[in-house]
Amino acid sequence: MKPLTLTVDAPSHQYPIFIESSLQDALMRQLAQYSSKKAAIVTNHTIAPLYLEQVQAACKAAGVDAFSIILPDGEEYKTWESLNLIFDGLLTNHAERSTTLIALGGGVIGDMVGFAAATYQRGAPFIQIPTTLLSQVDSSVGGKTAINHPLGKNMIGAFYQPQAVFIGLDTLKTLPEREFAAGMAEVIKYALLGDAEFLNTLEQNISAIQAQEQDILAQVIFHCCKMKANIVAQDEKEHGVRAYLNLGHTFGHAIETEMGYGVWLHGEAVAAGMVLACHLSEHLGHINAEDTARVIRLLEQAQLPTQAPDFDLDTWIAHMQHDKKVINGEMRFVVLERLGKAAMAKGITAEILANVIPHV
Ligand code: NAD
Ligand code: MG
Repeated sequence: MKPLTLTVDAPSHQYPIFIESSLQDALMRQLAQYSSKKAAIVTNHTIAPLYLEQVQAACKAAGVDAFSIILPDGEEYKTWESLNLIFDGLLTNHAERSTTLIALGGGVIGDMVGFAAATYQRGAPFIQIPTTLLSQVDSSVGGKTAINHPLGKNMIGAFYQPQAVFIGLDTLKTLPEREFAAGMAEVIKYALLGDAEFLNTLEQNISAIQAQEQDILAQVIFHCCKMKANIVAQDEKEHGVRAYLNLGHTFGHAIETEMGYGVWLHGEAVAAGMVLACHLSEHLGHINAEDTARVIRLLEQAQLPTQAPDFDLDTWIAHMQHDKKVINGEMRFVVLERLGKAAMAKGITAEILANVIPHV
């Protein structure tokens, strides 16, 4: 495939996303231009044996003096303690404010390293090398960085944009199938919230995408990054349209929290949550049952769950009231005006939800 480049025009900063079959080729060609002469590669124990060597080799070839910091793997390590391990590594290796932090990994690493970069000596440059489908289409674009607090996910963070994002499609080959599917939930989300034509493309090419055929996969990732970048350019700090990216997420977060983190992957919960958002949209008279069936079909083809678990209604509502989209106590939901166009629904009552959500 031909390498693709996209420019993200966030109001605070402009930077490129490079999408290529081979991560190493992309880095060899362009790393020198985007990294300082000194860099810290931050990754985890799962990814280091797979990709650290090639990133180190690319740094060497680019004349970048790099050291590595390897963290434990898992959402449960997206914490203050891990952040401190990054700072320990930076300080021990005499990293300066100009040292580039290179995040090599999925969304957990990307979010944490981005936040470390935002705060190390009041702001060091950083580069993202996202290695999960979810991080390639979602978390590496848009500049949200964070760690979790014991009382809430992503509660401590900053908006901070990278110098560049390097996406190598070859890194997805080692990704567990379930993680690939979870990323597909976010891919399908973009189509539903903003692009009916893209929905057709996904439906027509779903087998090729699942088989990771390079051309279509690259196009899909490019398109998702572009949609997110456009939304972020309009609304960097989530005062308006950026909230549409939360389609399926209010329901999804309730599923994730109630089941216990890690039981359902985020993307899986979002998939079932998007089906509920479709039912809610049907209830509001926007879309019809055939539209919902179409969404379910595509999610199933992407190996995603479409049926939310049965909790009691109070449990659902208690979780959803904790959502960051609750403003002045009012529950708001991203719904679909039609397939390919999201809208915000306010004033959704418990009675309406009782008709939409599976509950005991
Ligand atoms: P993750 O980073 O935990 O990665 C999933 C698993 O796959 C991990 O075990 C990881 O080590 C492993 N892995 C990663 N790349 C691999 C590869 N190429 N081969 C084999 N294994 C690999 O999870 P994720 O889904 O990438 O990201 C989830 C995180 O992203 C959450 O913490 C979420 O809050 C965050 N997020 C942030 C944003 C944002 O805008 N900043 C958006 C969405 C999600
Ligand atoms: Mg998400």
